[in-house]
Amino acid sequence: MTAVLTAAATLRCAHSAPLVLTTSREKFTVDSQNLLARADLLAAKILTCPNNPPCDSVDSIDKGLSATLFVDDEPVVLASAAGATAAAGVKSATWLVVSVNQTKLEAT
Ligand SMILES: [Zn+2]
Repeated sequence: MTAVLTAAATLRCAHSAPLVLTTSREKFTVDSQNLLARADLLAAKILTCPNNPPCDSVDSIDKGLSATLFVDDEPVVLASAAGATAAAGVKSATWLVVSVNQTKLEAT
């Protein structure tokens, strides 16, 4: 079992810029934070990457999607997630989970 990510999680690109997450799935919350689902993460923005060209979006989620827990038919994202960022539509670097900030809910 691996911790599930919520809006309280911190994710960063390889250049330490935060991924700005927008979550709207309110059916199921942990500590009053919405769960982070695949589509939410794919829509995340990176606004302050110092690289040139700067990462500005999520290109892919290469691992860490739940096989058992879904919200609105979207798999939730687990603490083990990792993938690639994009800069102006071109695959650029990697992103990773820095902290989960919840310990109540785990899934596989
Ligand atoms: Zn970056």
